[in-house]
Parts: sequence; structure tokens; C-alpha cells
Amino acid sequence: MTKELMHFIGGKAVKGQSGRFLDVYNPNTGEVSARTPLASADEVRAAIASAEKAFPDWAAVNPQRRARVMFEFKRLVEANMNELAEMLSNEHGKVVADSKGDVQRGLEVIEFACGIPHLLKGEFTEGAGPGIDMYSMRQPLGVCAGITPFNFPAMIPMWMFGVAIACGNTFVCKPSEKDPSVPLRLAELMMEAGAPEGVLNVVNGDKEAVDTLLTDPGIEAVSFVGSSAIAEYIYATAAAHGKRVQAMGGAKNHAIIMPDADMDRVVDDLIGAGYGSAGERCMAISVAVPVGEETADRLVEKLVPRVQSLKVGLSTDPDADYGPLVTAQHREKVKACIDLGVKEGAELLVDGRDFSMQGYENGFFLGGSLFDKVTPDMSMYKEEIFGPVLQIVRAKDFEEAAALPTKHQYGNGVAIFTRDGDAARSFASQVQVGMVGINVPIPVPLAYHSFGGWKRSAFGDTNQHGPEGVRFYTKVKTVTSRWPTGVKEGSSFVIPTMK
Ligand code: NAD
Repeated sequence: MTKELMHFIGGKAVKGQSGRFLDVYNPNTGEVSARTPLASADEVRAAIASAEKAFPDWAAVNPQRRARVMFEFKRLVEANMNELAEMLSNEHGKVVADSKGDVQRGLEVIEFACGIPHLLKGEFTEGAGPGIDMYSMRQPLGVCAGITPFNFPAMIPMWMFGVAIACGNTFVCKPSEKDPSVPLRLAELMMEAGAPEGVLNVVNGDKEAVDTLLTDPGIEAVSFVGSSAIAEYIYATAAAHGKRVQAMGGAKNHAIIMPDADMDRVVDDLIGAGYGSAGERCMAISVAVPVGEETADRLVEKLVPRVQSLKVGLSTDPDADYGPLVTAQHREKVKACIDLGVKEGAELLVDGRDFSMQGYENGFFLGGSLFDKVTPDMSMYKEEIFGPVLQIVRAKDFEEAAALPTKHQYGNGVAIFTRDGDAARSFASQVQVGMVGINVPIPVPLAYHSFGGWKRSAFGDTNQHGPEGVRFYTKVKTVTSRWPTGVKEGSSFVIPTMK
């Protein structure tokens, strides 16, 4: 019998009632490991109602006590790290060490959330006028929703609910239907940590569930991470229904390689950032841009044997560089992009399409591929591939190289490899991309900074976690109070000024 996953509503696991399901796979074997219930609009409304009921009391809990729940949640997640990482690896396909990294990067946001009381303090001006004090405070919004992608099933839900809940909101998470077990387990741990029932709910589902979250008047804010077309739809629909929205989208992250870069280091970094987690990272490097033909030739010479010797293996194999892709469908999409690149005339230096894992022929494995002489007019360059495929675009000089990420429709991450501080500094200042690495291939900001791309990589104006996350999940109220002394004054018909 295939295991049936549940929803998590009002502090307990709840069986799906819609009669609609989607299969969850073990990508190593290709077998169905469970089925996800797809919530009806009514089931989603039940989760919203449970969060609405929990909100007034949770918002009234003092910030330090809420932070103590976060401290305990952190302890519990750490104590269950191995179980969570294995669960994640078996549904997503990333290797266990990388799965622990997924949980750990989420936990770092929980660590940040433990200190959120400090950021909720607001501002105060004493004596803003005669007998007048003015103060502002940050108050929680109400029920917030998070809609998350398959590729970081631990980290991205924690980015969202960690900050939202610590700020006094209650939350409904709609995780990816491809790997929902970890978010469900995290909700259980949040209850065990002391969050009252209804503070964190998880509903599984597809478009019907998402559309309910985007339109229901009970939801105040929507945080989304996923592909750009859906991010744009989420942004437009939720905003049209009067909600706050942050919607992160897809990416095409470039690495500029200057002639003076340390090439061995660059190749190490490109291998990790291009092929780690089978390239299924929104901050993966998918385009390498060597500056000058000589740099390009040196890069190719060193990169080809490294891509050829990548160790693709079971996600449970500690020696594997990366595991299978998330689904057969996604692997076919990536293969089709490689076919297209060949058709468009790029040079396929390493072809991973025929890779098959002995004994696991039904697993969703794909070898690493490397393209050279890719040009910006090719659709393979314009679109996100989200697989173990690295493309080399040769640039004649720094200006041509630097213009590529700036002109690209996506603007999530970018890196420059150089020993020249001046080139690095002007690149970081000019490039139209939200997160920049200088000799750092995957510049994911730490939890106490904020994460977000530009252009079609993010819709809305506040980033995830860090101070921007606190701004997203709170609204400012400003109070002006006057306690006049002496006789009661008459009415004033002129707007008060501070002349
Ligand atoms: P996806 O857009 O297919 O799905 C994301 C979420 O949206 C899921 O919960 C899914 O159920 C829901 N969804 C899918 N189709 C929908 C529809 N038609 N209407 C309403 N909801 C819908 O993304 P994915 O394949 O799970 O994740 C990979 C994508 O996410 C890549 O494009 C990657 O770059 C991006 N991503 C971006 C970031 C970032 O911070 N910018 C981080 C991680 C992943």
C-alpha cells in the first residue's frame, strides 16, 4: 500500500478529503513512495480558519516568549537532523550531506528569528512638540501564506514561517507537491516546540489550493518562491486581492572569469556551483563567461575532464557529487533543453544525456553536460534549465562580459572571479543583479541579511528573511500622543505643523 500523506491543520495531521492525489517519487528508484493529497478550496479555508483563530492570542504573546518557541524549535530540528535529511534526500534526490545543508540554512533563519524581539522595538521621539510624544511600533499582519518550490523543502519554508511566526503572525504553508514530507514534519516539530495549535498549518495541493490562498480575504500576505511565470501570476493575483506579496522566481546566474583569476579555484567553484544538487538550485551557476579567448581555452581544458569525472550516484551514497533529478518529467525537460542547445549550434563538449545508473535504471539520473560557444541569442541561454548543465559564453572583454548578466531577463545571483579589486568593485556596483559574489560562486546572503533577486527573479519589493523579512511580516503603526498641561485648548482647524 502506498503511504498517504496528510495535511497539518489546527495542530494535528488531517486526512485529505478531496479524493485528488499526486504521486511522490523516490528519485533514486523511480518508484512511487507516497501520494500527496491535493486540498480542495474548503480544506484550505479550514487551515486559514484555524490560523485566524490562533492569531489574536499568538500576537498577544510577548515577543520574548515567542522567541523561546523558536529556540526550542531549533533544538528539536537539530535533534532530528538525520531523520529530516534522509526524508528530504529520499523525496528530492539531493545527497544527504547537501540535504543537511538545506535544513541548516533554514535553521539559520530560525536562529535569526530567535533575536527578532530586537527588531520589533519600533521608534520613539520624546517631546516631538509641546507635550507631544511620537512612537511607532511594528505589529503582525495576521494570517500569512507561504507557497514553496521543490528544490529547498526545508530551507524555504523556514525562511518564511520562521520570520512570520516570530513576528506574531500565524501561517499557512503550501509546500511543493513533489516533496512535502519535510515541511509536514517541521510543522509537527513547531507544535512540539510549544507553538499553539493553528499557528503553523500545512496544506498540500496544486493550483486550486494556491488560488484559494491568493484570493481568500483571511490571508494578509503571500510569500512565494518558484518559477518566474508562476511568481508573476502569484504577484498579480494576490496584489489584486489586496495582499502584500513577495514572489521570488527563476534564475540564470553568470560567473565572469577574468584573465587574472586563479583557474584551479574557478574550476573547483564552477563544478560545485554548477552541478551540486544536480543544478536544481536557484543560485546555481549555469553560465560561465571567460573573458578573452585565451582564458576560455584554459577554462575548457581544465573543466572538461572534471565534468566527465563527476560522480553521479544515489542520494544516499556519501561519495556521490550529486544524485538524481526530482522527477522523470523534470529530467526529460532538462534533456530537451540540451537537445535544443545542440540544434541551436552550441558545442556540446560533455554530453550527460545517456547516463544510466547501473541497478537503478528507473531512477531519474542525468550525467553532467557542458556546452561551449553558447551565444546570447540562443533560447537555451535565455531560459532557465535547472539541471546539471553548464554553458560557456565567450566574451572578448570585461565590458562585454559584464553586460551579459545585466541584460539577461533574470537577475538572481552573479559572480566574478578576479584578483583585481577595481574590476570587482565596479562590477559589483554596476551589475543589475540582486546578489553578487566576488570570488564566491554562490553568494546566498546569511540569515541576518536578506535574500532576493532583481528583474524577473523577484516580483514585489521586499526580500526574504533578515531585516527585509521583518518588514514584510509586520506593519508600522505610529502613535502621536499629547498630554497638555494647563487649560483645555479649543479646536484647531489648521493641519498641525512643527514650524
Ligand atoms: P514551480 O513554480 O513549479 O512551483 C512552485 C510552487 O508553485 C509549488 O508549490 C507549486 O505547487 C505551485 N504552482 C505550480 N504551478 C502553479 C500554478 N499554475 N498555479 C498556482 N501554483 C502553482 O517551481 P518548482 O519547480 O517547484 O521550483 C523550481 C523553480 O523555483 C525554479 O525556477 C527556481 O529557479 C525557482 N526558485 C527560485 C528561488 C529564488 O529565491 N529566486 C529559490 C528556489 C527556487
